[in-house]
Amino acid sequence: MKIDKMLKRYRVEHGKHFRLKDYDPADTHGLGSELKEAAKEQLGEGVKEMARLQDILAAQDRWGLLLVFQAMDAAGKDGTIKHVMSGVNPQGVEVTSFKAPSAEELRHGYLWRCMKCVPGRGRIGIFNRSYYEEVLVVRVHPELLESQKLPKVLVTKHIWEERFEDINHFERYLTRNGIAVVKFFLHVSKKEQKRRFLERLDTPEKNWKFSAFDLKERQCWDQYQEAYQDMIEHTASEYAPWYVVPADNKWFTRLVVAEAVVEALKGMNLKYPKVSGEAQAALKEARQQLENE
Ligand code: ATP
Ligand code: MG
Repeated sequence: MKIDKMLKRYRVEHGKHFRLKDYDPADTHGLGSELKEAAKEQLGEGVKEMARLQDILAAQDRWGLLLVFQAMDAAGKDGTIKHVMSGVNPQGVEVTSFKAPSAEELRHGYLWRCMKCVPGRGRIGIFNRSYYEEVLVVRVHPELLESQKLPKVLVTKHIWEERFEDINHFERYLTRNGIAVVKFFLHVSKKEQKRRFLERLDTPEKNWKFSAFDLKERQCWDQYQEAYQDMIEHTASEYAPWYVVPADNKWFTRLVVAEAVVEALKGMNLKYPKVSGEAQAALKEARQQLENE
């Protein structure tokens, strides 16, 4: 399989002509379900490669990697994160889930709580939802904006454009500091979400996952799609690309995400630190000392 081609198809680096409706949530890049097993094998290989690169990322201690996940409910964020990160060293990864902001968080600018969770050098950070909620749920439910206690004169019709601008600058800043940013929108269809909700209702072990609140958000489906469209259009960039990942088939979603993470790590041209001449001599001496015990 041509992985480069596959990734390119879903990667958005320039938002100007981006149209969400051009992306099919059921797309599998021509891989029929008979290739599902092969795809799973490929995912396993991807996870292995990720683990290998993560080890060098940590050793080199220069770059960091921030992965951002956004999606409608039941699109598979949690499962994708679990599968994709299954092979990596847990000591080098941190997952942060962003829920509705607390009273203290609302006293600060919206990037405050996220800034604190950005991964450091040598580490991978995963945002399960993120500052992008500020142009998604907050946009779909304007009453949330009211609760943000912003000075009235600052809340104008330009607020979303201003947020896009600030987010772009924030990501530019991170990447200029060696923290790479890759963003995933898991693109599920309304039909598949219904199927997954019904499955949650029909399977006792999945009942706990169902929330009446999710059903309420489903009623705002079209507003959300518009908000995602606008978000990607305004925040896709070469330095912090979006991947619009088809999410109706979980096996395919996971494959695309794993390969995109591998590609991002490969792009850093990671190398184990070279031990200098002096340190080499110290290693030799240590060996001698051990052998002489
Ligand atoms: P899951 O349901 O799979 O466990 P989830 O990410 O949907 O995961 P929930 O606790 O159900 O987790 O939802 C978190 C909620 O918090 C979402 O509805 C999201 O829109 C909301 N949220 C996140 N960030 C903000 C924000 N900045 N302002 C308002 N609401 C937010
Ligand atoms: Mg939820």
